[in-house]
Amino acid sequence: MMQMILIVEDEPKLAELLRDYLRQAGFKTFWIADGAVVVPWVREHAPALILLDLMLPGRDGLEICRDIRTCSAVPIIMITARIEEIDRIEGLESGSDDYICKPFSPREVVARVRAVLRRTEGAPLQIAGLMLDQARYLATLNGHDLGLTVVEFKLLQFLSSKTGQVCTRQQLMDSIYPDERVVADRTIDSHIKKLRRKIASGNADQEFIHSVYGMGYKLELLEDAGKVNPFLQLEFEIIF
Ligand code: CA
Repeated sequence: MMQMILIVEDEPKLAELLRDYLRQAGFKTFWIADGAVVVPWVREHAPALILLDLMLPGRDGLEICRDIRTCSAVPIIMITARIEEIDRIEGLESGSDDYICKPFSPREVVARVRAVLRRTEGAPLQIAGLMLDQARYLATLNGHDLGLTVVEFKLLQFLSSKTGQVCTRQQLMDSIYPDERVVADRTIDSHIKKLRRKIASGNADQEFIHSVYGMGYKLELLEDAGKVNPFLQLEFEIIF
């Protein structure tokens, strides 16, 4: 399957150049020029990687990067023309995986995209307080080991990779049983139930899992506006 690279760039000529080179390298691309629409788009479409220009009309690239990090672990490469911004980009606060300075060679950008994708594949998936170590099937919430079984881990991993999107039972079944084994819908529900219980025990102070009726399951991280430090809530919408 072709991986989708999101290009966030307000200069059409530059965006076109990146698009052409990335397509030639076998990637699908999508271009956004307006900084204000990036975060909702990412939540909806889950790209494989984002090339994010720092200077955008509407919203600053660093601000967008921080916002994306509250709901997604998608690799981000920042692009900047301001040398003095590099310290800020390198700082832990931005959450980007790499940066590139303008002017750049599009070939170098393609090489960096490939390198970041290679590096982040199989690396721990981190979304707010939730950390999924994909090599060891280890899930922790705020540093607390959730003690998940392999099946529970795979379910959580799949839901995390589709943050904000509804996953049907069929998709969840396919994610945990790639051998096309036939399992009852109830099997998924029972795994999810145990998973929710384990997640709740990892953060017993508050109710952060909730259910709604509908078509599948959804993992969503919500910002709790009531806290001084934005604290993230892990939320499951369970839909029947
Ligand atoms: Ca720009």
